[in-house]
Amino acid sequence: MTSPFDLQHVISCVSGYDPNALRVDAALAVMQASVQPVSAVERVAVRAALGRVLAQDVVSPIDVPAHDNSAMDGYALRGDDLAAQGDTVLAVAGRGLAGHAYAGDVAPGSALRIMTGAIMPAGCDTVVPQEFCRVEGDTVTIPQGVVRAGDNRRLRGEDLARGKTALPAGKLLRPADLGLIASLGMAEVSVRRRLRVAFFSSGDELRSVGQPLDAGCVYDSNRYTLWGMLERLGCEVIDLGVVPDNPQAVEAALRTATECADVVITSGGVSVGEADYLRSTLSRMGEVVFWRIAMRPGRPLAFGQLRSDGHSAWLFGLPGNPVAVMVTFYAFVRPALLHCMGASPQPQPMLRAVSAQTLRKKPGRTEYQRGLLSPLPDGRWQVSAIGNQGSGVLSSMSQAHGLIVLHHDQTTAQAGDLVDVLLFEGLV
Ligand code: AMP
Ligand code: MG
Repeated sequence: MTSPFDLQHVISCVSGYDPNALRVDAALAVMQASVQPVSAVERVAVRAALGRVLAQDVVSPIDVPAHDNSAMDGYALRGDDLAAQGDTVLAVAGRGLAGHAYAGDVAPGSALRIMTGAIMPAGCDTVVPQEFCRVEGDTVTIPQGVVRAGDNRRLRGEDLARGKTALPAGKLLRPADLGLIASLGMAEVSVRRRLRVAFFSSGDELRSVGQPLDAGCVYDSNRYTLWGMLERLGCEVIDLGVVPDNPQAVEAALRTATECADVVITSGGVSVGEADYLRSTLSRMGEVVFWRIAMRPGRPLAFGQLRSDGHSAWLFGLPGNPVAVMVTFYAFVRPALLHCMGASPQPQPMLRAVSAQTLRKKPGRTEYQRGLLSPLPDGRWQVSAIGNQGSGVLSSMSQAHGLIVLHHDQTTAQAGDLVDVLLFEGLV
């Protein structure tokens, strides 16, 4: 569906916007303010919800746990029965097991042999772990000072209280969330529909896997790195192949992509020499800006909205260099796609590691270097920049544990300085 969209207006609302040296955070702010989350919702089985975005709050229909219960194997008693001085000696009334509650009463002055997870008997509020207890016949002796009243008891509803929000809408569901939903007895949840992302590579020199490699050509790797990064995000991926460097072919591919997807990602063809016809095609199809981002590796990046035959899609035009594709994806496209998926914004955690060497850096741009981590004897992590940082060198991307992020205002980091590392393992 075509929606009216005024990119220039959005841009004018972002402070510090300078198209010639656009800060990474300003470009992100424009994208986040522009893209609309998908609104359609579907009910899916709990296991099918892994990696999906919750569409509505999950409100707990029950208390979890449903009863006060024991956190230990031991003896349940009344805190009031604990002697102020000396041992406490109590009669053992019976046994309570997990799933098999003790049916009788536990009168004042007595205790119940209880196992972890068993319901606390009425009146009892404390569990003494069995290793502290001496048992003789039908009595249990508890030395002074081993517990306080209320210890080792899990309270009804302490994990999730009935009627309270257990998970908020916008949460990207992780394994713990699936367990949590199951703990509420729910078999299904409402999630946003998957985001459809179409991509193609552009360049006359590109060959697809399976084709012969003609002189001067390279195999297209971007459609594989992009596929991997999008699959990790849980997107529905539409691969439109390689498109030659000619305006008609690019326009046809852009139209196909716009008509079948929510988001279109292209790689290649946005550098200064090639961008001219792409620019005119894009301006016919919608509203697109070409940015020079203050980052390295960083090349022009196109962003905007395309329209074709009553459909619209967000466009991310990435540079062609394989490393630049991955870095711009992680820096911009991924956060924007998460927003499009309906996910609530989350900070991207980074590891602070000790730099193994001097990392030269100019202030006024964000730099990303591929880094290898190793543990130091003092328990901290050390990071070293991999030798070949060329923006076409995918092998160093493959070896790296993450990207050393040298922030916009940062200057050269000396050996021993702490630097931020964006871990690939943390990127879903
Ligand atoms: P471009 O941004 O089109 O000027 O491309 C920059 C560099 O990246 C050139 O060396 C291209 O051959 C290379 N390149 C562009 N697209 C791809 C791709 N899909 N796979 C591998 N290399 C590519
Ligand atoms: Mg090219």
